[in-house]
Amino acid sequence: MGLMTRYADRLPFAPGDPVISLEEGSTPLVLAERLSERVGKEVWLKVEGANPTGSFKDRGMTCAVSDAVRNGAETVICASTGNTAASLAAYAARAGLRGAVIVPDGKIATGKLAQALMHGARVIALRGNFDEALKLVRELTQRHPIALVNSVNPFRLEGQKTAAFELLDSLGELDALCIPVGNAGNVTAYWKGFKEMGAAPRLFGFQAEGAAPLVTGKPFPNPETVASAIRIGNPARWEEAMDAFTSSHGRVAAVSDDQILDAYRFLAANEGVFCEPASAASVAGLLAHGVEDAERVVCVLTGNGLKDPQTALAQAGAVVPCEPDMAAVEKAVLG
Ligand SMILES: *Cc1c(COP(=O)(O)O)cnc(C)c1O
Repeated sequence: MGLMTRYADRLPFAPGDPVISLEEGSTPLVLAERLSERVGKEVWLKVEGANPTGSFKDRGMTCAVSDAVRNGAETVICASTGNTAASLAAYAARAGLRGAVIVPDGKIATGKLAQALMHGARVIALRGNFDEALKLVRELTQRHPIALVNSVNPFRLEGQKTAAFELLDSLGELDALCIPVGNAGNVTAYWKGFKEMGAAPRLFGFQAEGAAPLVTGKPFPNPETVASAIRIGNPARWEEAMDAFTSSHGRVAAVSDDQILDAYRFLAANEGVFCEPASAASVAGLLAHGVEDAERVVCVLTGNGLKDPQTALAQAGAVVPCEPDMAAVEKAVLG
């Protein structure tokens, strides 16, 4: 069951409204035994890479595209670091809408680009960064009747808040949530979802050191990090995210690319969970900064590791070449 059906009573849609769904949500919540041991807490992984297009962006996209169809839109557009583009392209294809995405030229992971193109979206590679792309699409949608489905669209947050409902449905309660932060829509959505259910876990947000405006308090004109999904210098949901950290008695902190990549490899090799680099920022943050006295902790793994094979291959061991005879195979396998 897609999340618009599962949580119909808590979303701003009426019976009979269009529902564009790929059966998103209801993602696995996996107990991370080795990570729990390592940090001395009960740590769970919310595996959002198991969504239909491989990231949590599908939660918001089902609602945003359904709303666009309800309003009679013919074209949907977004600026994206990659996953929003892949998700928009899939839901637009499903709805029979035209999809257009503006991505930073050369800065988007291969899998995401392949998805957006395969689903038939028009992919525009901007010679600029994400923040410039967002500014331009905002202006464009004021000039033309095109629906903007970036996380400035309130329906995106409505859909994304359902992840908080799922955590409460599965665990009853939790003490802390660790989450990567880019444009800060997702952390804002979780906080909304928790508040609607009367829950208030502490929210710990983590940015990459090279793209950490919420940590330093000022925009980054040239954000840079291996975690391309959070390479954002001027988050659209800045104030709301800061309010979520303060109100929940959590905090926002930075992690280095090395810490991100260590966590990325640790999760794959020790928990069997392959996420993308940006997602590993949640676990890198837990390892580097802790979560104070919280005991039961959920780390949100926002996207699937298959999205970014280049980074994976650069970080992983090499393959073992082998001649086709038994002695060589024995040596290769056992030696
Ligand atoms: C979009 C995205 C993020 C950041 O989410 P925000 O809502 O922009 O803070 C983190 N990880 C992945 C994999 C993403 O696609």
